[in-house]
Amino acid sequence: MNALYAALKAHDLGTANVGLITDIVACPGMDYCALATARSIPIAQDIAKRFADPDRQQLIGELGIKISGCINACGHHHIGHIGILGLEKSGEESYQITLGGDATENAAIGERLGPGVTGDDVPDTIERIVDIYLAERQRGERFIDTYRRVGLDRFKGAIHATDA
Ligand code: SF4
Repeated sequence: MNALYAALKAHDLGTANVGLITDIVACPGMDYCALATARSIPIAQDIAKRFADPDRQQLIGELGIKISGCINACGHHHIGHIGILGLEKSGEESYQITLGGDATENAAIGERLGPGVTGDDVPDTIERIVDIYLAERQRGERFIDTYRRVGLDRFKGAIHATDA
């Protein structure tokens, strides 16, 4: 295992972020898929840059983000703790955000947070969601646990009125 890690690290692929907020699943999206209605990979990169600090990632703890670039849902956004679905609205990309998805034995489909947001506003929106979680969480509680306890409405302020 150490040899594998060393080989990955040599190619800058050894980031120790399994299960954390930057361990994002994103489908190919508009960059590589002819069916896409929006980009996925650049959105994932923007979120990963926003939460790049390893200490902050550890502080936030287990949190899975999944992104799909169209309704075919190859990124399985509907079962992400935070799901992001890229759509096209009046010729512009619009990202619909869902919360509470889960692919474990407590399986759940994410609930829609509110109106779609622009691609530029996705990182800020994720940050506001995380801030609400950190304000609400009880000792040792994961994001999904806090979400289930406090419910969707507590997070609705994360979507700002100026969003698309
Ligand atoms: S979800 Fe849509 S954009 Fe993403 S890989 Fe599947 S078909 Fe392509």
